[in-house]
Amino acid sequence: MTKKKELRGKCGCGNVKYTIKNEPLFTQACHCKDCKISTGSSFVIHTMVLEKDLEVKGDVASMELPTGSGKGVNAYFCIICGVYVFCKYNISPGRIAIRTQTLEDPITPQAHIFVKDKDPWIEINDKKICYDKFYDRDKTWPKKSLDRI
Ligand SMILES: [Zn+2]
Ligand SMILES: [Zn+2]
Repeated sequence: MTKKKELRGKCGCGNVKYTIKNEPLFTQACHCKDCKISTGSSFVIHTMVLEKDLEVKGDVASMELPTGSGKGVNAYFCIICGVYVFCKYNISPGRIAIRTQTLEDPITPQAHIFVKDKDPWIEINDKKICYDKFYDRDKTWPKKSLDRI
């Protein structure tokens, strides 16, 4: 067993700092068009945590954005530098998706979703973790994460 360790991250200017108090649930990259627009890049990486495990310091602004599910997502930004630090999908209450690269020690994705929309110059070596659209969570997430949600 590895010792429970806290993870820390921050926005670009350091106004927003956060701590994740328990092990994250799952980390995934998404290659869909909405995520490309929101990052200005080829994919986003999200680390899912329980809302109760997240402690945030510094003021954030939020805004609701559309998602593929039609349910929407509330995105949270640093009010000073505008960096998009985390979001809450309305489809999964009680959970938060952290933008993985705002972590001090980023986590390697355990799945790639919407690979059908992936930029052609990106080559993902591990094909077993690639999904055309979404995956079946019960078959993909580790059991210890499923037990917590
Ligand atoms: Zn900031
Ligand atoms: Zn996406």
